[in-house]
Amino acid sequence: TQYLAASDRYEQLPYNHVGRSGLRLAPLALGLWHNFGDIDALSNQRALLRYAFDHGITHFDMANNYGPSAGSAETNFGQLYKEDFKPYRDELVLSSKAGFYMWPGPYGEYGSRKYIIASADQSLRRTGLDYFDIFYSHRYDPNTPLEETAEALDHLVRQRKALYIGISNYGVEETAAITKIFRELKTPYIIHQDAYNMFHQEPATSGLFDLLEKEGTGAIVFSPLAQGQLTGRYLNGIPDDSRAVREGDWMQKEVKAHLPKIQQLNAIAQQRRQSLAEMALAWDLQQPAVMTVLIGASKVSQLEDNLKVLDHLDFTEDELKAIDNVLKA
Ligand code: NDP
Repeated sequence: TQYLAASDRYEQLPYNHVGRSGLRLAPLALGLWHNFGDIDALSNQRALLRYAFDHGITHFDMANNYGPSAGSAETNFGQLYKEDFKPYRDELVLSSKAGFYMWPGPYGEYGSRKYIIASADQSLRRTGLDYFDIFYSHRYDPNTPLEETAEALDHLVRQRKALYIGISNYGVEETAAITKIFRELKTPYIIHQDAYNMFHQEPATSGLFDLLEKEGTGAIVFSPLAQGQLTGRYLNGIPDDSRAVREGDWMQKEVKAHLPKIQQLNAIAQQRRQSLAEMALAWDLQQPAVMTVLIGASKVSQLEDNLKVLDHLDFTEDELKAIDNVLKA
């Protein structure tokens, strides 16, 4: 049946400015890294996107290599876009990225003009979109001048293949340097995407968040749930349908090592009368630099849970201290 978006979809979430730009985003966005590949049921992908949009999530995040197989998340999104979301194009913020390995040979990854422009064209073809709202350099390339990467991204904007530009996984120094170049070029660079969660606090300790705040760049943070570890998912073992099983050994080891902390954090969340997932997202959002948490979900019920974070965002000093103590132990 033809999809008709919920009429109350904009009554549920606030929309905050991305840094000092005019673009506004909700505190939650949905990423298509996992669960949208050609190994995943299209019906579930459709259900996730519909549920998200019906509940006020306007931003879907992709990259050239998301799948598996690489590229299939964009292809699947393209099909669902055509069938469900095309009438809503101007209500959506759709992003993609180039940086990681995508095709063989010297032009299939990193930050050259050659790669970035070819990859953006491929992503547009796979999704069937005319343009991306945000296009990212997915990682810093130590072997390409930052000017070249910045100019390639700027070129995409001039060609109307992207409206805004972002960078992802860039450290403090590289971020400062490319920010300067974007400013000279007058590129609409507005957003930085990095990992941030209770188990991975580097952007807060490295000075990255301070820099982004100073420069007026928005911070959207990925893996806010540490890929599902900061939820109830692993409290009673490792379920067969979980990401830890799909990812294999490294993640299962990490889950086991983190389990005592996960249990203690869960107890704190219970005292706050919210799920651990909700508390983990709230914890990210109370960081002043963080504008949006970029979540993943394999089930609609997870989205439903995660959206409840808005009901209880604030922390007492004691709660923050208790969380710190668990993480430091
Ligand atoms: P999360 O930390 O939000 O992990 C999502 C996973 O956690 C889900 O797939 C699900 O795993 C589990 N989960 C989510 N909600 C719940 C819940 N309420 N209860 C129980 N389990 C839950 O984020 P991701 O690591 O998926 O990253 C999100 C997005 O960020 C990506 O899709 C991508 O867009 C972006 N990203 C960007 C990167 C970059 O380099 N720029 C790198 C990584 C991500 P399960 O399968 O076990 O159900």
